[in-house]
Formats: sequence, C-alpha cells, structure tokens
Amino acid sequence: MTIIDGKAVSASVREELKGEAENFAARYGRKVALAVIIVGDDPASHTYVNNKIKGCEQVGFRSICHRFDDGVPQEQVADVLKQLANDDTVDGILVQLPLPKGYDSEYLLSLIPDSKDVDGFSPANTGLLSMNRPNTVSCTPLGIMSLLASTGRELKGKHAVVIGRSNTVGKPMAMLLLNADCTVTVCHSRTRDIAEIARQADILVAAVGRAGFVTADMVKDGAIVIDVGINRIDGKLYGDVDFASVAHKCSYITPVPGGVGPMTISMLLKNTLQAAVNRLK
Ligand code: NAP
Repeated sequence: MTIIDGKAVSASVREELKGEAENFAARYGRKVALAVIIVGDDPASHTYVNNKIKGCEQVGFRSICHRFDDGVPQEQVADVLKQLANDDTVDGILVQLPLPKGYDSEYLLSLIPDSKDVDGFSPANTGLLSMNRPNTVSCTPLGIMSLLASTGRELKGKHAVVIGRSNTVGKPMAMLLLNADCTVTVCHSRTRDIAEIARQADILVAAVGRAGFVTADMVKDGAIVIDVGINRIDGKLYGDVDFASVAHKCSYITPVPGGVGPMTISMLLKNTLQAAVNRLK
C-alpha cells in the first residue's frame, strides 16, 4: 500500500505556479489577484480563508480579503462582489461557503462572472464540465484527479464509485472520472447497500462528511481509496475512511490530513492563474 502524499504533490504544483505567476507579473505589470469574501465567524471557514491567503502569498499572487460580520445586510456583500466583478485587476473571486443562515448564496454567487469563478461552481462552468468541455473545474475534485495521476495508474475502463453527490464535490468528481473514461457509480444517503457497491470499486472516493464511514469490508483488495472527508471531533481531524483498517486492503490511499486537503487550495491558485491568463487573451 502506498500513501498518496498530497502535501508533496501540492508543493510541486505551487512551485510551478510560482514561476508562472512571476512570468505573468513581468508580462502584464501586475500580480495575479484573488479576492475572497467571508461572512460570519465560523472558525473552520476562517482557517480555510487564511490558508487561501497564505497560498496566494506563497506563489506570489495578490490577495484581497473582505471579512463581514454575520448580520451585515446582504446588499452590502453584493455591492462588494459587484465592484470586484468590474475590477480588471481582480482575476478570481470566491465566497467562502457555507454562508450564515439568512444569506442567499445562490444570489451572491450569481454575481461572480463565469470568467472569475475560480471555484468552478457557476452553472456555466458546471455545465461545461458535464459536456466534457471543462473550463474552470471545482478545486477539490480537480485536485483528486492530480492525485490519481500521481499514482501512474491507468483510469480508463476502471470502475469508480463516488460516495456523495454534492454540487461542489461528489457530482463534479463523478463527471471528471466519467470524462477520464471510468465507469462511474454515484452513491448517496438513499443508496441501498453501499457496502456492496463500494466493494466493486477500483477507485473509491468518499465525500460523505461522516468520520470512518468507509470500513475495510467495503473495499476491494488493491483499490485506490481517496478520502475527501474533513470531520472535526474534539479538535482532531478525521477522514471519511477508517484509515487503519482500509490501508491494509488498498493499493493507494490518501491520508487525512495531508491528502486531498492541501491539493484543494493549490487547484484554487491554479484556477486563478488560468482565469487571469484567459481574461487577458
Ligand atoms: P455535503 O454537501 O454534506 O454532501 C455529503 C454527501 O454525502 C451527500 O450527497 C449525502 O447524500 C451523502 N451522505 C451523507 N450521509 C450519507 C450516508 N449515511 N450514506 C451515504 N451517503 C451519505 O458534503 P460535501 O461538501 O460534499 O463534503 C463532503 C466531505 O468532504 C465533508 O467532510 C467535507 O468537509 C469534506 N470536504 C473536504 C474538502 C477538502 O479540501 N479536503 C473540500 C470539500 C469538502 P444526500 O445527497 O442524499 O444527502
């Protein structure tokens, strides 16, 4: 069994981005810029935002961060989004989700132009992915494709089972695997006998949000297991996969932390650079 080192793959992506960001700045006379909006005081969301800002610094991007208190009028957030949308020196915009209760995330996200939608959540970017004409793709599933590539294993014809069907992880993951010629099964909370389906997977992706959901009896010998879950229990992070038991059965596995997580921000940075280049083309 090999542990897929998300930190190492992520570091090499960022090293590459650093060079590309320098070239961009030299050519266009400004840095690639990412704007982040956060509302409320959810500690996990603040940690993610801080890591995104740190990531920008690491690769030489400019970051812009607007922090709003929970309770700020929605139109105030909308106004900032509209300004950022019209600012030619801003390449990517993201709203950290989830927003506190009472905010209409669909409306606020709709204010981000497709060309600056570096999270890849817009209906246009989602649709293009499903047509196998990907433009900007959701960062976590995109990072997982890089991790799968790092194994050197052929994906074509493999049976991939994705547990989870969220718009941000499960569905785009399934689309990317389908576009890579896998045969894909998507499971969710109403799926009957998930264990039986999971056992048929050559590639098993767990994006459930339940600590230790995937146990050894759900994994085929030699499968590649990707653990997307981030579950905080008593201040400690746990994945959706019971690592200790599953690790003995699979060929490759991502750890939590240090697997999928580090890739997500690297892909966000990659998407931002791509958005900058595309807009200036
Ligand atoms: P989500 O929106 O809550 O979706 C969870 C999915 O799991 C849903 O489709 C749900 O089914 C399904 N599910 C829940 N309980 C189930 C059960 N008992 N049996 C089968 N399916 C079940 O979560 P998400 O945003 O996709 O995230 C999933 C996990 O990945 C979370 O732990 C999250 O923190 C983590 N995550 C990590 C990263 C990263 O960078 N590493 C990024 C994003 C998310 P229904 O649709 O039927 O409700």
